[in-house]
Amino acid sequence: MQKTNYDYIIAGGGCAGLSLAFHLLQSPLFNKRILIVDRSPKTENDRTWCFWTDQSTLFDSILKGSWRQLQFKSAEWTHTFDLGDWRYNMIRGIDFYNFILPQLQQQPNIDFVFGEIEAIDGNEEKAWLQVNGEKYTANWLFDSTFSPRGFGTSSSILEKEKNEKKYHYILQHFKGYVLNTPKPVFNPHVPVLFDFNIPQQNSARFVYILPHSPTKALVEFTIFSEKLLPPEEYDQHLQSYIENNLQLTKAEYDIEETEFGIIPMTDHPLPQRPHPQKRIMHIGTKGGRSKPSTGYTFWRIQQDCEQIVKSLQSTNQPFYPSIYPKRFLQYDRLLLSILQHRGEQIRPIFIDMFKNNPIDRIFRFLNEESSLMEDVKLMYSVPSRPFLEALWKTSTS
Ligand SMILES: Cc1cc2nc3c(=O)[nH]c(=O)nc-3n(C[C@H](O)[C@H](O)[C@H](O)COP(=O)(O)OP(=O)(O)OC[C@H]3O[C@@H](n4cnc5c(N)ncnc54)[C@H](O)[C@@H]3O)c2cc1C
Repeated sequence: MQKTNYDYIIAGGGCAGLSLAFHLLQSPLFNKRILIVDRSPKTENDRTWCFWTDQSTLFDSILKGSWRQLQFKSAEWTHTFDLGDWRYNMIRGIDFYNFILPQLQQQPNIDFVFGEIEAIDGNEEKAWLQVNGEKYTANWLFDSTFSPRGFGTSSSILEKEKNEKKYHYILQHFKGYVLNTPKPVFNPHVPVLFDFNIPQQNSARFVYILPHSPTKALVEFTIFSEKLLPPEEYDQHLQSYIENNLQLTKAEYDIEETEFGIIPMTDHPLPQRPHPQKRIMHIGTKGGRSKPSTGYTFWRIQQDCEQIVKSLQSTNQPFYPSIYPKRFLQYDRLLLSILQHRGEQIRPIFIDMFKNNPIDRIFRFLNEESSLMEDVKLMYSVPSRPFLEALWKTSTS
């Protein structure tokens, strides 16, 4: 007989869903009955995640890059940072899936179902999910199903509740090529976190480079703005960067892989528990794990999974008090306001931030782990005018 009742259902087997299952597997809860539901099995390298940390991770064995240096580039100022105890890490999506999935699949207590999720609901006692016409129930349901096009689709929770007077809705959208060239144009020891040396066109735009070797790298063109570009424009910007900044003609490189992504950047609340009376927890981007002002999500998902598992173990329920001080949401709000109204100001702000602060202070600030004193130092190091304007805008809206 087909099993339909579980301890936990995980809706969406992407980064957050698989991370949660993997964290559970490493814990005393390893033998809980778990169902993971996704549209389809993960067989493609659909994204590359980067994050910085000064700790070891569950994924150290599959890191494609783990760098001790990082470069910031702009027309005015270029600098290579030594990261000290920190590492800038890169994981390819496919390596993450191929590492976690076989370990989950060999567990008799973990099942997978593939299909479009038709409904998710619950009450105070149970949560349930419907897929392929079948209903599955669980004590707790973890939902990471989020439309990446975010603010533009009717299925998006944000579209239904969008409040443009109160909140900011920016998209981080990017396209990248993994390119091969016979010319050794990349430094394999130094990824480029930001190259702002491209036309800004009234928005925040940069390229980042993740080198695999002197002749191979992921080169990614990124924009923070309210609307997506026509598809062909991403390629035009990338090709122009490759030609003008990397000095490679079209004949001198080939594209091994492409990647396109959209990360929602918003201060619209994305609570982990939108319905207090239901046994449903939102995780991943849907649960507000994408940092509003940067889009960095991977490491926050890992921190979230750690807390969820601890909470399940100690209190038999997944919710835990926020580990992030509330003031960071205020900082994010100001940056989002600048991104929305004065996107071209981001470049000088970032240049001053990286120029005038040690890299570990910047990392801690962006990870929301810095002290108030460090935050003050960092704020004094960047141009104040855009922030004062943003403060005025956000306090009068
Ligand atoms: C190309 C790309 C690069 C990124 N790079 C970085 C980075 O370098 N660093 C960083 O910190 N963050 C990065 N991010 C942001 C973030 O880490 C990722 O988006 C991450 O995958 C979010 O995890 P998630 O589980 O919330 O969503 P996903 O990983 O997208 O997982 C959601 C899952 O839900 C499934 N699903 C959705 N709806 C349904 C449905 N109706 N029925 C069945 N299944 C459904 C999807 O198939 C998917 O597998 C990147 C994002 C993208 C897109």
